[in-house]
Amino acid sequence: MIVCKFGGTSVASAEQIQKVANIVKSNPARKIVAVSAPGKRSGDDIKVTDLLINLATAALKNEDIEGELQIVVNRFMAIADGLQLDHTICDVIAKDLRERVQGNKTNEELFIDSIKAAGEDNNAKLIAAYFNSIGMPARYVSPKEGLVVNDLPERTYALPEAYANLAPLKHTKEIIVFPGFFGYTEAGILRTFDRGGSDITGSILAAAVEAELYENFTDVDCVFSANPKVVNDPVEIKEITYREMRELSYAGFSVFHDEALMPVYKIGVPVNIKNTNNPTAPGTRIVPRRPATGRPVTGISADSGFSTLYVSKYLMNREVGFGRKLLQILEDENISYEHTPSGLDDISVIMRSNQITLENEERILSRVKNELLADDVQMRHGFSMIVIVGENMRNNTGLAARAATAISKTGANIEMINQGSSEVSLVFGVQQEFENQILQALYEEFFAHARV
Ligand code: ASP
Repeated sequence: MIVCKFGGTSVASAEQIQKVANIVKSNPARKIVAVSAPGKRSGDDIKVTDLLINLATAALKNEDIEGELQIVVNRFMAIADGLQLDHTICDVIAKDLRERVQGNKTNEELFIDSIKAAGEDNNAKLIAAYFNSIGMPARYVSPKEGLVVNDLPERTYALPEAYANLAPLKHTKEIIVFPGFFGYTEAGILRTFDRGGSDITGSILAAAVEAELYENFTDVDCVFSANPKVVNDPVEIKEITYREMRELSYAGFSVFHDEALMPVYKIGVPVNIKNTNNPTAPGTRIVPRRPATGRPVTGISADSGFSTLYVSKYLMNREVGFGRKLLQILEDENISYEHTPSGLDDISVIMRSNQITLENEERILSRVKNELLADDVQMRHGFSMIVIVGENMRNNTGLAARAATAISKTGANIEMINQGSSEVSLVFGVQQEFENQILQALYEEFFAHARV
C-alpha cells in the first residue's frame, strides 16, 4: 500500500485535481490520499488557508465576514464547476464555513485553528466526491476517526494511540481521501499542525498503515542540493537519508516539513518526493541508509531569522547549574533554542527570532543580569544559519577548513560553528546579509566541479 499526499499547488484547481486522479488511478497500490487545501494557482494567487485566516481574523474582530466567506466559497465553486460536480457540494462547504465562524471564540487560537482546517477538510470531501463521480470508489475519512493530538499549550503533535486508531485503514477497499493539517484532541477539539503540516498527516497515515512507500507530491521534480533561487542549476538529490533531510529541512529546505520525517522514520517507511506536474520523473527518495557517493556533502541549506543571547560571567565554568538557570529563564518565556555554543566564561543561546518580542527580550535581559549576576548580557538579531549536510562527511578530514576558507572569501565573519557529534552536519552562524554569497561560495567549493 502506498500513502500519497498532494500539496496545495497539486490541488489548487480542477485541472490539478484531474492530474491527481490520474496519478492515483495509475497505481492501484495508491489507496490512501492525504490532501492540502487549494494552494496558489499562480505566483500572485492567495492560498485558501490564508483566505481562511483572513476570515477568522475578521470574525474575531466582529467585522462583517460575508465578503471573506464568499471568496473561499467561490474558490471551491470554481473547482467544483471545473470538475463538473453539482453545486450541492458547495452548499455543504458554505454551511460548514458558517458553522465554524459561529463557533466558540473563547480561545482565539483554537477558533482560528478550526477555521484554518476548513480548507483541507472541505477539499478532501470535494476530491472524494470527484473520484466517485469518475468511477474511482472513494471515501472521505475525517481525522475524528483516530488522529488524536495533544492538548494546548504545546505545539500540536499526534499522540501514540493515533497510529493504532488509524491502522485499520490498511484494509480499505475504496480510496481514502483524508484531509491534511489537523487532528482532534481526546476531548474532540480541533487543532492544526504548523503551516505546511499536511506533510505530517501523510506521514502519520503512512506509519499507521505501515505503508510500503509514502509519496509526497509537490510542484518540483526533486529536492535540490541547494536553493535553486540562489545557486545556479544546483545538483538534484536522487537519494537522501532521513537524517540528512531532517538537517536540511531545519534550515530552509521547505519542500518537506521537518516534523513529517519522524513518523515514517520510526517505522522505516521510505519517502518519495514527486512532482504532480511531471509524475514520471523519479523524484527524490528519502531512505534509512544509502550507499556513499563520491561527494562528502549532500546539500547546503541556509535560513535567516535567528537571534543570539550572549552571556558572559567570569568563572562561569565553575558555577554549578548556570546553564540550567539560563535555559530556565527562556523556558519561562516559552522559548525554544537551537544551539548553545560556549566558551569558558561565556555562552550564547541561539534561537528563532520570531519568538522574541520587545517585552520578553527586556525581561530576559534583566533576569539574566540580576538573577544570574552576569558580567555582560546582550541579545543580538539578524543572523543566518548555514548548514552543510552529508552522512559521508564523517569520513572526510579538512571539511571544516574548506568551508571556513570559502566563507572567509566572502568577507563574512563566522560568529558560531557547531558540529553535532553525529557529524552529519556542520552549522555556521553568520550575519544575515552574507547568507546568499556564502551559499554560493560553499556550493562552488563542494559541488560545482563534481557532478556525480
Ligand atoms: N494548508 C496548510 C498551509 O497552507 C497546510 C498544508 O498545505 O500543508 O500551511
